[in-house]
Amino acid sequence: MEDCIFCQIVAGDIPSRTVYEDEHAFAFLDVNPLAPGHTLVIPKSHHETLGDLPAEESAALAAAVHEVAPAVEAGMDADATTVACNNGEAAGQEVPHVHYHVVPRYEGDGYGPIHALFDGPTDVSDDELDDIADDIGAALD
Ligand code: AMP
Ligand code: ZN
Repeated sequence: MEDCIFCQIVAGDIPSRTVYEDEHAFAFLDVNPLAPGHTLVIPKSHHETLGDLPAEESAALAAAVHEVAPAVEAGMDADATTVACNNGEAAGQEVPHVHYHVVPRYEGDGYGPIHALFDGPTDVSDDELDDIADDIGAALD
């Protein structure tokens, strides 16, 4: 897509520090890293969210994340990585081309888990949990 920054990166029209590329996926350093080594993994074709991705692209993206995350840990001498996707605008996605963030993490870095995004567990009754599981399951049928 012409006006998409990430499509322009894949096409080589905008420079990037590329760390990985295969037939379907592409990975490059984030220009505003949350930590040194912060890497973005994207499908080469333009799709806005995970749900928009065709199955083959989704599988290839997951496979690329599987390659890149351990490489970020090894290359950055990190203890772990946070792997996250802001999946849609309401979740904080700013670039509308689906991407995973892979951010190096270190023992004692103090940044916490993904759970730190939220105030804590929300009270949901057993009945509500049953209904929610039914609703999500039905959406998958
Ligand atoms: P998100 O908020 O999940 O959409 O994240 C978009 C990410 O893309 C941000 O972390 C930006 O720093 C990063 N970003 C935007 N433009 C570029 C670029 N030209 N090269 C590398 N990373 C970029
Ligand atoms: Zn795009």
